[in-house]
Amino acid sequence: ASAFDTIAMAPTDPLFGLMAAYRADTFDKKVDLGIGAYRDDNAKPWVLPVVKKAEEIIRNDPAKNHEYLPIAGLASLTSAAAKLVFGNDSPAINEKRVVSYQTISGTGAVHLGALFLSKFYPRPANQSVYLSKPTWANHHQIFQNVGLPIAEYPYFAKDTCGLDWEGLTASLQTAEPGSIILLHACAHNPTGVDPTQDQWKAIAEIMKARNLFPFFDTAYQGFASGDLAKDAWAIQYFIEQGFELCVAQSFAKNFGLYGQRAGCFHFVAAPGSHAEDLAKRVGSQLAILTRSEISNPPIYGAKIASTVLNDEQLFEEWKQDLCTMSGRIIAMREALRDKLVELGTPGNWDHITSQIGMFSFTGLSEPQVLKIREEFHIYMTKNGRISMAGLNTHNVEYVATAIDKVVR
Ligand code: PMP
Repeated sequence: ASAFDTIAMAPTDPLFGLMAAYRADTFDKKVDLGIGAYRDDNAKPWVLPVVKKAEEIIRNDPAKNHEYLPIAGLASLTSAAAKLVFGNDSPAINEKRVVSYQTISGTGAVHLGALFLSKFYPRPANQSVYLSKPTWANHHQIFQNVGLPIAEYPYFAKDTCGLDWEGLTASLQTAEPGSIILLHACAHNPTGVDPTQDQWKAIAEIMKARNLFPFFDTAYQGFASGDLAKDAWAIQYFIEQGFELCVAQSFAKNFGLYGQRAGCFHFVAAPGSHAEDLAKRVGSQLAILTRSEISNPPIYGAKIASTVLNDEQLFEEWKQDLCTMSGRIIAMREALRDKLVELGTPGNWDHITSQIGMFSFTGLSEPQVLKIREEFHIYMTKNGRISMAGLNTHNVEYVATAIDKVVR
């Protein structure tokens, strides 16, 4: 007998299961619109040219070694990462109100923040963490695993394939004061729907009035619009408004460093005379949490991102690469929408171009998703989300034609 005789079989991760099904498919025109990883126009993974240059620099560094990083990670990365997300002349950074820890990519950053909040954030009324409905599925698992109760705020309006503004604001208006609100900084996953700047202002106002705690997840800065400042606007606005907040930052998408697991967690104290001291004390606790889970974060991806972020010339080249990726995705949005319009496909397809970032919520139903997989070998998640990066000039017509056939 085993101590685990009663253990239940857990379901396989739906996204990684979808990938396996795609790989096993032998049809020559199969299309992968599942996983959120950038692909070039030939459906191949793309190593950013600037990343190749950084790797060359790292390879040729005579002082190169494989020592442990400090517990907080590579300081040249975490400081540049903070500047990237908060802005070069951020008062929060200048006033030393920011504490930054390198993490296992964005997932590790969300987890470190969740763990920190579960241990140190006071929730006398058993306040919940509010996640958008829908959200990146892993948010549910991460917050559940640290024992925080989860609530949801409405986000996506099925009738318009846009933001459910009434539902969202009503939910924030009635959330228990002190609740934690998880916000996607830009390029919301899975919907591709972001609030406008005016809507962000209104969200901040409600959250301030109701004493709600913002936790930003930023996994697509620069990748979404091609403009680093624009994609960080919401976070910087909240900091301007004096919030105390957390940020989970990933370099997976914007550097194409998926498997290298480079990311950062930032805690920002509200302005005030004790802010610097508070940030130090928070940092001391983050050190213990990090030490007990990973001891020290991985070095290679961190060095690549740091090399680029700290070199003016490479930074400019990186911005070009971001435009290459975001530009190709925006072009594919237009191509798909135009083709559907040309085919006279029933329904309105403007949301394909108004949504932003890696994903689009097409509005296809689960039966339609299964049909398009069976008949056309086009793979997407059951909720009708497509990864725009899976589209290219060679397959976009095929995909549009297939969508046309399954919705008729
Ligand atoms: N948050 C969101 C919203 C995401 O979409 C992702 C990537 N799928 C992540 C966090 C983290 O990904 P990673 O751990 O690869 O950085």
